[in-house]
Amino acid sequence: MKRLFRTCLLASAMAAGLGLSGPALAAEGPGNDDLLNDAKTTGDVLTYGMGLQAQRFSPLDKLNPESVKGLVPVWSFSFGGEKQRGQESQPIIHDGTIYVTGSYSRLYAVDVKTGQKKWQYDHRLPEGIMPCCDVVNRGAAIYKDKIYFATLDARLVALNKDTGKVVWSKKIEDYKAGYSATAAPLIVDGKVITGNSGGEFGIIGMVEARDAETGELVWQRPTIEGNMGTLNGKESTMTGVLNASWQGDLYKTGGGATWLGGTYDPETKTLFFGTGNPAPWNSHLRPGDNLYTSSTLAIDPANGDIKWHYQTTPHDGWDFDGVNELVSFDLKKDGQTIKAGAKADRNGFFYVLDRTNGKLISASPFVTKITWAKEIDVKTGRPVYIDDNRPGNPANAEKGKPVFSAPAFLGAKNWMPMAYSPATELFYVPANEWGMDIWNEPITYKKGAAYLGAGFTIKPLYDDYIGALRAIDPKTGKIVWEYKNPAPLWGGVLTTGGNLVFTGTPEGYLKAFDAKSGKEVWKFNTGSGVVGSPVTWEQDGEQYVAVVSGWGGAVPLWGGDVAKLVKDINQGGSLWVFKLPKA
Ligand code: CA
Ligand code: CA
Repeated sequence: MKRLFRTCLLASAMAAGLGLSGPALAAEGPGNDDLLNDAKTTGDVLTYGMGLQAQRFSPLDKLNPESVKGLVPVWSFSFGGEKQRGQESQPIIHDGTIYVTGSYSRLYAVDVKTGQKKWQYDHRLPEGIMPCCDVVNRGAAIYKDKIYFATLDARLVALNKDTGKVVWSKKIEDYKAGYSATAAPLIVDGKVITGNSGGEFGIIGMVEARDAETGELVWQRPTIEGNMGTLNGKESTMTGVLNASWQGDLYKTGGGATWLGGTYDPETKTLFFGTGNPAPWNSHLRPGDNLYTSSTLAIDPANGDIKWHYQTTPHDGWDFDGVNELVSFDLKKDGQTIKAGAKADRNGFFYVLDRTNGKLISASPFVTKITWAKEIDVKTGRPVYIDDNRPGNPANAEKGKPVFSAPAFLGAKNWMPMAYSPATELFYVPANEWGMDIWNEPITYKKGAAYLGAGFTIKPLYDDYIGALRAIDPKTGKIVWEYKNPAPLWGGVLTTGGNLVFTGTPEGYLKAFDAKSGKEVWKFNTGSGVVGSPVTWEQDGEQYVAVVSGWGGAVPLWGGDVAKLVKDINQGGSLWVFKLPKA
């Protein structure tokens, strides 16, 4: 009824506007309920994660391990430009249009049927931006008549979804201090919710909510203990307790960037945001747990208050950013259904938490080698450290004792999102097997300069593969099947009711696997490395699949010996759309 009323209003408004000059009216677009239902509605993809819980599961089953063999490209769309860098985006699909972001803070609207461009927005980036790990963007958000995305100069931009014209543009933080933004925003109850990037520059991690209509700030929640939150323009509550886990003034430059954005669970009305490494990397310069870095924070979307936290790597000394997404799911165990959340952490452990209170249910390794901790104690929820394997204290020397550490700081799993299938009750985790030589160095904070106090070289662990797509049973923590890939995996995962798992490879392929057996059942080479997240939807009775192609991201920049192995992969920038041929 409400929808019908809106549509009528809109129609009359449009009729009244005929022949008049003035701002173009955009069609209404999806509302809050549409976003909440996104995982169930197969005709569109309205949210990053294919549902706010970010299971990346579609119930669609026209494509299955048999029929997928006929999957062919419909069209490919080039992002253009001379600078082709990592394309880590997930497309949004609404009403016949694909909205997709590209490197260098670009956003495109493309016709689903023809691949023809409707509009393009190129954000004008200032000189001196400081993205740590390539000029990527992970995707846009849609709400009512606007499209939202974050830009490398740490701004949040809202565009008219039909014209690409800027409606508002707000500064998240000062790019000159090392802040940037790459995450796909999340929209809950009319608020655009984003994180920030810059953990390598001694920034303060933050989650913030803005009014989707006006861009005005509603609340901010710093991730580092001792910093003050805001609500409606006033101070609200302090994050944690001043100096409880940070000494002196270190909390003012403590890191904890929320660079991957978050997920939302409508059942418990909770936002989940992962937080990055404490700054600097050299852990001897900041005694204590350094809350709430390398953690998952459960946040109240109404006011930004922290409901609970779970820290995966207290006193992180390896850049084990805990930003990895917490995916809500029903854990069926011992005859009970538990409101759980799972997180495949950069530190190598796959955590299952009770998402109503943050209590640890289980933690199991999902890579073959973990040197920094023996295990996670389920009673205390804390890691059992192997102290000798922490990089040594340089004190006044140039360099502390180096150690070989696994996983490498690029993580057992980095940014690339996993998927969960309620049909198979398995998680599909894009993992990497690598280690690093790492050592600490003295460092002092300087605004806008790298704040690491560490040196490193990443090395592969095995000759025949680095990447491993692993199916994990959250009830047992056991790996049910795996697919090994020569190059590191750096793209997102999609799973479907048709018993399929899709993911991309740096070698250029989008691949499909049987979700139960792990058997590879289809592949297509897109011409450059695939490090984006595939999506699927249905249009006019046909099931489509889309993914962006374009090699880049952190591996070529920071991958050490692994970067050398993949140096011959060509860059690119394009959107590919697939479906079965018409019978
Ligand atoms: Ca949907
Ligand atoms: Ca980091």
